Amino acid sequence: MSEFDNAIPGDLVENAAAVRARVAEAAARVGRHPEDVLIVAVTKTVALERMLAAARLGFATFGENRVQEAQEKQDHLRETLGQGQTPTECAAIRWELIGHLQTNKAMRAVEQFARIQSVDSVRLAQELDRRAEQFNPDVRLPILLEVNVAGEASKSGFAPDDVLAVVGAITNLPHVLPQGLMTVAPLVSDPEEVRPVFRRLRELRDRLRETAPQGEDNDGGWRELSMGMTDDYPVAIEEGATIVRIGRGLFGARPPAHG
Ligand SMILES: *Cc1c(COP(=O)(O)O)cnc(C)c1O
Repeated sequence: MSEFDNAIPGDLVENAAAVRARVAEAAARVGRHPEDVLIVAVTKTVALERMLAAARLGFATFGENRVQEAQEKQDHLRETLGQGQTPTECAAIRWELIGHLQTNKAMRAVEQFARIQSVDSVRLAQELDRRAEQFNPDVRLPILLEVNVAGEASKSGFAPDDVLAVVGAITNLPHVLPQGLMTVAPLVSDPEEVRPVFRRLRELRDRLRETAPQGEDNDGGWRELSMGMTDDYPVAIEEGATIVRIGRGLFGARPPAHG
């Protein structure tokens, strides 16, 4: 179809197989099923063509950390495909936001993403609730609360203690559906060093599940744990991750400015 040919780059084929094998091994070490871990392919700075190649390899959920970049890719995809031409891979793609969202971009985010993983304030949750109602009053927008477990000044996210304090207010919002927690672990040389961070997020999730009000259409509430990236996802899976977000491990190194 037009500019996209169907050849899948060899490095992507190899990386995808390696990531899937490591996910399965990590899950097996702790008696979990690999199907219980969603791999989100993180495509910041990755060209649309490579993203579609990953879709052809069976990856269906893609993570972007900026509204603008996701918008450009979605526009490009629409233009390239033309009206009424929707290859299966396009219909199958789910976009999720994993980076900090400014409230003034909430409407665009609601239009573009199937889930917002990076909700880091009550104000943002309220704004997403308002915008989700405008966008589609019949469907609740899935969200995760981002937690700054290690308390790093450079990172956004709720302090762990604050999550328990705000959970009532957020659960009461009628147009968003809180499904769990997300964290970005500190950068370390040995992934074992961040095991306690992942463990704390899981313990926090477990406490939430005990205490958070579970609405009748919220029965999957607070189940998800989005944690683990290229350098540490096997440890995160051992600690209970239900979602891992993998960029470099699939697509290779990014330009330095993007970490
Ligand atoms: C970039 C990014 C990732 C993926 O990072 P890799 O180390 O390339 O796997 C995951 N989560 C967030 C929030 C990111 O910004």
